[in-house]
Amino acid sequence: MPDKYVLLDRDGVINIDSGDFIKSPDEWLPIANSLEAIAQLCQAGYKIIVITNQSGVGRKLYSDADLTAIHLKMQQLVNASGGKIEHIYYCPHLPTTECHCRKPKAGMLLQFAKDYKADLNALYFIGDSLRDLQAGTAAGAKPILVKTGNDIKTLMTNPELEIPIFENLYDASKFILSEQLIINAPKIRTINASHINRYCLFCYFNDTFFHISFSFTLQASRSLGAICFSHDQANLWFKLPSNGLRKFKQC
Ligand SMILES: [Zn+2]
Repeated sequence: MPDKYVLLDRDGVINIDSGDFIKSPDEWLPIANSLEAIAQLCQAGYKIIVITNQSGVGRKLYSDADLTAIHLKMQQLVNASGGKIEHIYYCPHLPTTECHCRKPKAGMLLQFAKDYKADLNALYFIGDSLRDLQAGTAAGAKPILVKTGNDIKTLMTNPELEIPIFENLYDASKFILSEQLIINAPKIRTINASHINRYCLFCYFNDTFFHISFSFTLQASRSLGAICFSHDQANLWFKLPSNGLRKFKQC
């Protein structure tokens, strides 16, 4: 099995972004459940790579040493949550430098692919801004957008974006993990879901409309064939073979 990777932007994906830049460890604050999302991906065998523009270094708002301290805090919090960040690529340059690394250019993604001998076509790059999507696309990776960044309003007014969009990193990671379920477990097996009670499911599948209200015994879901799912404490997630991921709230 080749190594599996998920590429993440940092500001607005893992931590709360600031228009004034994140200049010190104290200013680096995780977005709710982002550390748990990283931990879940790691526990499912993914290696996490962070790819981030840090022009604040070029602007002399903070030093390389400050950035190292910020990343040490991030690593420590991720580790404490049960995850690990494999590597952090950052571009310290000013937008005017015209370097090859600053997103929307693909330089950092291409450097990662070279360093790790990874196939970019097979992996997701999760970002919160248009330039993340552009860098991911330019590198041949699969972009995912999350709505936790500052750029989101601009992005949502670009309806031509035909990419998966999720509320946050936690939901995006659920999507990635549900894809893994399809690959690794095409037949539904019993999973422990004793804390889940009843759900309603509406879906259109193989020319048939399903409305199922069921307690989570999995007997009902067998009739749905190749639908695969995962769950967390609040939501049940179904991945339909031809469509995207659907999230169903408890009813
Ligand atoms: Zn650069």
